[in-house]
Amino acid sequence: MKLLIQNANYIAFNGEKVQTDILIENGIITKIEKKIEVDVERKVDAAGMLVSPGFIDLHVHLREPGGEKKETIATGTLAAAKGGFTTVAAMPNTRPVPDTINHMEDLQKRIRETAHVRVLPYASITTRQLGKELTDFEALKEAGAFAFTDDGVGIQSADRMLEAMRKAAKADMAVVAHCEENSLINKGCVHEGSFSEKHGLNGIPSVCESVQIARDVLLAEAAGCHYHVCHVSTKESVRVIRDAKRAGIRVTAEVTPHHLLLTQDDIPGLDANFKMNPPLRDAADRAALIEGLLDGTIDFIATDHAPHTLEEKSEGMELAPFGIVGLETAFPLLYTHLVLKNIISLEELIGFLTLKPAKSFALPYGKLEVGAPADLVLLNLNKEKEVDPSGFLSKGKNTPFAGWKCKGWPEMTIAGGRIVWEKGV
Ligand SMILES: [Zn+2]
Repeated sequence: MKLLIQNANYIAFNGEKVQTDILIENGIITKIEKKIEVDVERKVDAAGMLVSPGFIDLHVHLREPGGEKKETIATGTLAAAKGGFTTVAAMPNTRPVPDTINHMEDLQKRIRETAHVRVLPYASITTRQLGKELTDFEALKEAGAFAFTDDGVGIQSADRMLEAMRKAAKADMAVVAHCEENSLINKGCVHEGSFSEKHGLNGIPSVCESVQIARDVLLAEAAGCHYHVCHVSTKESVRVIRDAKRAGIRVTAEVTPHHLLLTQDDIPGLDANFKMNPPLRDAADRAALIEGLLDGTIDFIATDHAPHTLEEKSEGMELAPFGIVGLETAFPLLYTHLVLKNIISLEELIGFLTLKPAKSFALPYGKLEVGAPADLVLLNLNKEKEVDPSGFLSKGKNTPFAGWKCKGWPEMTIAGGRIVWEKGV
């Protein structure tokens, strides 16, 4: 299949915006030139639109198998496509957990048959994510695991984590960690701070996260493995990661759009669409996360897309499950509230969603160049629209951003040379 994108605005390597045509043949970008004259099956007039490499989200919960009421691989990856994402990495807290070759092969089959964009499956670090017995890293790598994580829970025992990191180093794979010291969770449902005090709720203190990151960077140094920190949320965590990087430890880190945009002060009341793990922290934490992103301490942005049903999210702040959806709103929210407010540049934002995650995990995606896989998104930077959960393609409508006015909505997403989503079709 041949596809020609015409008149798109493209940010060249020197940061200059130029107008260009892009020819796609058999899933690959074969030409990027000012004017391309050729017979093709489909021409797309992208005048006035910005073309970016397809976004990469390395932290997504697709829920399948086992959680199909919340999301499926089909609905989650269609939501990804609508949000401009062409590669997502799927977290392993499913039923069953991808902790054996059989489970991983079943997951791969489901992905092959139903995914709209590229899905990189995580395997778990421990059997059933119970934090005890390690999975067979070499065999799971062979079966296509992208990296290892027990996301949703922290690995509590230091000796188990060290052993996992040594095995990962041997297999040349990354250990990806949700950091929470269980003895400090305090049965919290929000951050321990002004909001928890005001509403008489148990709070999760910042140190619950940062203390485990501090332990882990030292373990990673001892093991010599690539250690990646999920959804960094506190200023102390940023400091620990910054120090670890300075010491030459092989650590990378991600931050979510909601931790970059919201704090506990933005929670309007006992609304579980503002309940996620880690929780929304303090204004000083948010400032440190932005600073950490800008100085390279935090490597990239990932959504932690975590769909739940309306019934589950209606159970109140204490009982509802943690998590919010993020795939369909990430770019417009970040563009409107960070780029248009001159906090980060457009080039930087695109980098945090494309080249930076790709580089962190040595993936061959995230760039627009001849010979690269044709993963791209056309963005309308001028159109303003409200976030409307009723229009989400994800089964999850659980967002704290309903009603937010944003610019920068995707109009078409192409993954592996195929149009996987386009506006109004
Ligand atoms: Zn997590």
